[in-house]
Amino acid sequence: MAGLLCAVPAQAYKVYIFTDMEGCSGVTGGEHISGALKEDGKRLMAEDMNACIAGCFAAGATAVVVRDGHSSGSNVNARVVDARAKLIQGPTPKVRYKELDGAAAVILLGYHAKALTPQAVLAHSYSSASIQGMWLNGREVGEIGVDMAIAAEHKVPVVLVTGDEQAVAEAQTWLPEVGVCATKRGTGPQSAELIPVEQSHRNIQEATAAALRRRAAIPCLKISYPATLRWDYLPAGSLRTHNPDFRPVANPRRVEKTGPSVEQLLLGH
Ligand SMILES: [Zn+2]
Repeated sequence: MAGLLCAVPAQAYKVYIFTDMEGCSGVTGGEHISGALKEDGKRLMAEDMNACIAGCFAAGATAVVVRDGHSSGSNVNARVVDARAKLIQGPTPKVRYKELDGAAAVILLGYHAKALTPQAVLAHSYSSASIQGMWLNGREVGEIGVDMAIAAEHKVPVVLVTGDEQAVAEAQTWLPEVGVCATKRGTGPQSAELIPVEQSHRNIQEATAAALRRRAAIPCLKISYPATLRWDYLPAGSLRTHNPDFRPVANPRRVEKTGPSVEQLLLGH
C-alpha cells in the first residue's frame, strides 16, 4: 500500500548559474552596460536569469544558485529575480564561484566571446581595458574556456552556454557536447541583430531544461596540468578591446604563470 502511495523520490540536484551581462537577450553594446540604457541592461540580465531558473526547475532541479557575475557582481535588482533561486551578489575575492561545490551542473549565462572575436558583441577577455588576449596551455582562450576549466576543477560540468552566436560557437570549440542557446547575432563589437526578447527567454528556458536532462552525457572540460595561463596586457591608455576603433598592439606586455589550478592562476596573478 505504502509503495503505491509513495512517488519515487526525484534525485535532488543543485544547478549553478554564473551570469554575465554582455551576452544577455536584448543587450547590444556599451549603452546597456554602462551608458544610457544601463538600467535596462540590468533588467534584461535579471530576465535571462529568470528564464534559466524556470528551466532548471522544469528539469527537476531541487536547488538553484544564481551568481550575479558581471563587473562588481551587483547588477540585478534582487526583487525581480525568481525567489526560488538563491542569488549571490557582490565581489568574492579569491573565489570566482562561491557555493559551486556540490552542484550537478553549471550554466554560463549571458556570456561573450573572447577578446577581438569578429562580429561578437562586447567581446573581451576579463578586462576590455587592459587585456588584449589570453592563452590557456598555449591555446587562445576567453572567459568561456577558463570558466569551463575552473568548473571542471570543482568536478562540475558546464552543460549550457548562452550568449551571441560567436560566444556559443566558441563554447562548442572547447566542449562539443555542451548545450548552447544563442540570444542574438553580433554584427560588430557594439551592435547586434536581436532575437525578440520574449522569444529569447523561451529559448533559454527550453535550452536549460534540455541541457539539464542530458547532463549525465556532458563531460567536464579536460585540460592538462600543470596549467599555463598567459595574459597579453595593453599599454595604459589604450582603447577598450571592444571599441570598434581598437587596433591590436604589436608588443603587449606578456605575463605567463604555471600552476596546479586554473582558478588559482586566474585569481592569484
Ligand atoms: Zn561582463
